[in-house]
Amino acid sequence: MSNFVFPRPVDETPVQSRETVAGSCAECGAQQLQRYPVLSEGGWFMTVKCQACLCSASREPWHRLGHVSLLTDDLD
Ligand SMILES: [Zn+2]
Repeated sequence: MSNFVFPRPVDETPVQSRETVAGSCAECGAQQLQRYPVLSEGGWFMTVKCQACLCSASREPWHRLGHVSLLTDDLD
């Protein structure tokens, strides 16, 4: 019995819903702004990032639990 196990390749870049944002990057001028949530220190943030130089054009707190939306998030 051979013990070779070939795990399925894991897609390390799961499809994330990214929204194209009109406008150009303030840093490099590329018209490659996209809005998407990122998890960083302090929780989830909805960011608008330039896909060319990865600078953040906008960054605001998002749902505390990321893609999971709590009812209490809607209370304020
Ligand atoms: Zn840029």
